[in-house]
Amino acid sequence: MQVKVKGKERGELLRKYGLRERNRTKDILQKVTRFLVDKFRGYAFILEDLKRLRNAANRKVKKYNKKSKKVQEVSVRSKEMKRRLNSTPFRRIQSYVEYKALLSGSLVHYKSPHNTSKICARCGGLVNSLRACPTCGLDRDINACLNLLDVGRCGAPKGSP
Ligand SMILES: [Zn+2]
Repeated sequence: MQVKVKGKERGELLRKYGLRERNRTKDILQKVTRFLVDKFRGYAFILEDLKRLRNAANRKVKKYNKKSKKVQEVSVRSKEMKRRLNSTPFRRIQSYVEYKALLSGSLVHYKSPHNTSKICARCGGLVNSLRACPTCGLDRDINACLNLLDVGRCGAPKGSP
């Protein structure tokens, strides 16, 4: 349904502000990734292979609806969470980092994020969806980074005594 808004069509306004928002996002991403690549010039970048990330964000399960007395597909996440996850341009951030890093001579590696935040890099305990490791208290984000770096237990490089 089209609604007149002060002489302008709704679609026209949506296009205008949508384009403005897209350009803002693009500008911020370009600046942030430029900063990152310049700051870590000479280092290699390890990025998570984010295939099927949207599927995980929009995952649905079958549940019994008491009102309609039917088995229906229901989203696992809330509407707000889905909006947040789906409006974040993960892959665009990665592609900007990738081409800028390659142009400046840095290497880019893609690694599978499988189990990187589940198993503790320091003690080997199960972190799962907790904020930090229940045994040693290592933060889950730092833990995921250590697991992506593949440094092995206790932060010691693999193969070292
Ligand atoms: Zn731990």
